[in-house]
Amino acid sequence: MAVKETPVNLIGLTREEFENLMESWGERRFRARQIMVWLYHKRVWDFDAMTDLPKKLRAELKERAYIGRFKIIAKERSQIDGTVKYLFELEDGERIESVLMFDRDRVTLCLSTQVGCAMGCRFCQTGKIGLIRNLTAFEIVNQLLEVERDLGRPRAVTNLVFMGMGEPFANYDETVKAIKLLVSPEGVMFPARKITISTCGLVPQMRKFAAERLKCGLAISLNAPDDRRRSWLMPINKVYPIREVLDAAREWYANIKRLITIEYVLLKGVNDSIEDALKLKELVKGLPVKFNLIPFNPIEGSEFEPPEIDQIERFRAALAEGGYVASVRFSKGADISAACGQLRARY
Ligand code: SAH
Ligand code: SF4
Repeated sequence: MAVKETPVNLIGLTREEFENLMESWGERRFRARQIMVWLYHKRVWDFDAMTDLPKKLRAELKERAYIGRFKIIAKERSQIDGTVKYLFELEDGERIESVLMFDRDRVTLCLSTQVGCAMGCRFCQTGKIGLIRNLTAFEIVNQLLEVERDLGRPRAVTNLVFMGMGEPFANYDETVKAIKLLVSPEGVMFPARKITISTCGLVPQMRKFAAERLKCGLAISLNAPDDRRRSWLMPINKVYPIREVLDAAREWYANIKRLITIEYVLLKGVNDSIEDALKLKELVKGLPVKFNLIPFNPIEGSEFEPPEIDQIERFRAALAEGGYVASVRFSKGADISAACGQLRARY
């Protein structure tokens, strides 16, 4: 008796994997690129509509392949700034979030790379969950595809940031595979310059990523001006202290030549003094950076608070003095709990 084979999900395959699949079906390798163009350029999800494919191949696709989808469990739009938060259900029932933000002509989608996160940062909702599992390249790329489907417009999203749930470099292989598919000419053709990866500072992966020579931006969550406080807030600092993280950042800069973003969550009375701002500047001396200050977004049962608005401004001004670009990123969609991991926690 013939064993029924499980259909293959076509989303998330690299061109090479796709070509091998075609070959294993006895098809020509170039069919892979043709189908990828239907999927990623034209966003056609119906095999019958792929009119330049032979009928036999279309029938075979229906039989042996499928186009992976998520279920939208919740979608909330902020009344304040239009931010839309999606809660998706994956094929195995796990749930992840993606957040869509609007800023003048920029439409930014914040992607998740893991269900939960193992890093356990004290101020982070996702960190409280712990790591449930890594996302696949399909699950990373498909967040963009689902959102653009929902918006009814391919290429509606202009910028991608890997700042949702999870630590992208703790899921290195699938994250890099997803980025390569996003930027490749037969894939989504998303400009690498419009993609930013945010990391808590996993040094070996930062080094490896520099060697990939992808022109994406790099953001480092520093969050404290010394190892004592950083280790308390972000336990990973005991493995990769600030010095090592900044050395890896220098290496990345030498390869990619793009300004690095230093992210800094402002916590009242913890890391928000003027002295801290000056220490922070001292730390990054010689490294081309800009600062992104994020006032703490309260999470349930948290011991922290965001600083008062004038303290935030004083901290920002202290950083900016001497020529640094320092901006404050107020939480988008404060009314829909849009900070990372918050919507998932509610459902
Ligand atoms: N794991 C990666 C990317 C996801 S977190 C990283 O840590 O960089 C994205 C950003 O959100 C990080 O800069 C993190 O410090 C910040 N963040 C996490 N919880 C927050 C909260 N409750 N309020 C404000 N920023 C938060
Ligand atoms: Fe993980 Fe980033 Fe949250 Fe830390 S801040 S727990 S690294 S998602």
